[in-house]
Amino acid sequence: MTGQAGTGENQAIDTARNAPGRAPPDAPLIGLSGRALALGYVVIVALGLALAVAAGIPPDHSWGEAATALGIIALAMMALQFLSSGRFRGLTGRIGIDRSIAFHRWAARILLIAVVLHPLLYTVPTFMADPARGFDRLGMMFLGERARTGLIAWLAVIAIVLLAVLRDRLRMPYEAWRGLHALLGAVALGFGTAHALAVGTYAGAVPMQIYWYALAGAALASLVVVHVWRGLSFRRDPWRLVSTVQKARGLWELTFHRINGRPFPYRAGQFVWLATAPRRHTLFDHPFSIASSPRERDLRLIIKEAGDYTGRIGALPRDTLAGIDGPHGAFTATDKDADAILLLAGGVGIAPIMGLLRDFAHAGETRPIRVIVAAGTADRLVGRAEIEAMRDKLDLNAWFVLDSPPDDWDGETGIVDEALLKRALEGLPLARTLSMACGPTAFMTSTADTLIDLGLDRDNVHYERFDYDEGALSRLDIAQRWRFRALGAALLVGTLAFALRG
Ligand SMILES: Cc1cc2nc3c(=O)[nH]c(=O)nc-3n(C[C@H](O)[C@H](O)[C@H](O)COP(=O)(O)OP(=O)(O)OC[C@H]3O[C@@H](n4cnc5c(N)ncnc54)[C@H](O)[C@@H]3O)c2cc1C
Repeated sequence: MTGQAGTGENQAIDTARNAPGRAPPDAPLIGLSGRALALGYVVIVALGLALAVAAGIPPDHSWGEAATALGIIALAMMALQFLSSGRFRGLTGRIGIDRSIAFHRWAARILLIAVVLHPLLYTVPTFMADPARGFDRLGMMFLGERARTGLIAWLAVIAIVLLAVLRDRLRMPYEAWRGLHALLGAVALGFGTAHALAVGTYAGAVPMQIYWYALAGAALASLVVVHVWRGLSFRRDPWRLVSTVQKARGLWELTFHRINGRPFPYRAGQFVWLATAPRRHTLFDHPFSIASSPRERDLRLIIKEAGDYTGRIGALPRDTLAGIDGPHGAFTATDKDADAILLLAGGVGIAPIMGLLRDFAHAGETRPIRVIVAAGTADRLVGRAEIEAMRDKLDLNAWFVLDSPPDDWDGETGIVDEALLKRALEGLPLARTLSMACGPTAFMTSTADTLIDLGLDRDNVHYERFDYDEGALSRLDIAQRWRFRALGAALLVGTLAFALRG
């Protein structure tokens, strides 16, 4: 145990440091809407095809044009992957990290298909006329001098996707995987752009060249912003660890103070990227939800021991310097219109829920709030005393649920099921109730589906994943996949129109 405070829930309840000092206005929630992003995405990718058509070169056979279209689409999507990583609030701040990453992963699959098919389609007519010559042409295509840059990009894309799929099985440290992912991405884009400019059928046209330079420049700039600019600001604008409190077995609350004393506007429920000395760089940062209220002076995070980095989080010495990038995320309540609020926390998912509750308490929220907090065992349960104390300030009812309770347990037992959700929702205006959940994926997706069945408006059902592997899907996730597929269908239509335009 390090830091200011000792173990235990009671010691954790607001220290003087975290007494409400000021009431900052909500940080603006910036970023584009999902629709604007989807439209912008299609326009940018389709622009590549439009510029190729405008080059005025008579089209080749349809297979060749389809291959070219897939090459153009794949390279444009590759550049846009750098911007859809969820690190740019100005773009994806409004849709949140879950949707950004789900899209990034979906786009990677489409991109892979386009990249693999791109060289193959050129050879289809030769294969159809004479399979032996088809193989010769394929060999020349992959081994010829002319296509060397393309081959490197092709292999880099395949390697990126394989590494992403096999990351868990390879047991590669996340930081190493992440560095390699960015490096291979840069290789794929760099060589892909060089390939398009050197051998691309339409690359002689100046507008097409500007298009490729602009996309590659935007992707490169995104790397510089995240890994150079933000890396430097971790040093220029450092934070200091001022206290560590053990909240439960393997769960710690860390409080960070911004050394320059400047306010850090955010909305309750958002998250930050944290890197601590001696590895105070964005290559080593990790995302953590903010567990404090923006009305507090310092920033509190609740962190579960889960692996290499977090496994040692409770032992960080006091005064450790930290870099914080944020705020990020759209798991916020202040921008949503509702008459009642249901909060659901499972395990370490308590972190943003605690941030929301602490903010409601500081702000004197008057709407009814219902909270369900679930944990495996009593020694893993975080926040009970603090939440119960909030009943004095808020119209609050709370249920605490354990999977394996001790004999003297006076709370709920089992899982958060429909019966418990119904009890929690009793007396609330269902169509005007906002639900926000954070916890294991299956917990969030099953409760989301149940809440929609019980009458909540699907636009009012929100959850935040801590794990990018999507796992179980809710109806909301499935609907989102259909929206992605519609975007994929638009790209397919573009490819066909381009190929058949002759
Ligand atoms: C939006 C968001 C908010 C989160 N909030 C919290 C929180 O409030 N409290 C908390 O305890 N945990 C939170 N997490 C999870 C936390 O980021 C991971 O548990 C942590 O990064 C694990 O790092 P590790 O090195 O200890 O474990 P590892 O063994 O290296 O990784 C375990 C798993 O965590 C994920 N992970 C690891 N490093 C990173 C990284 N740099 N970026 C993204 N994912 C990574 C990977 O899926 C990995 O498989 C949050 C995650 C996200 C996406």
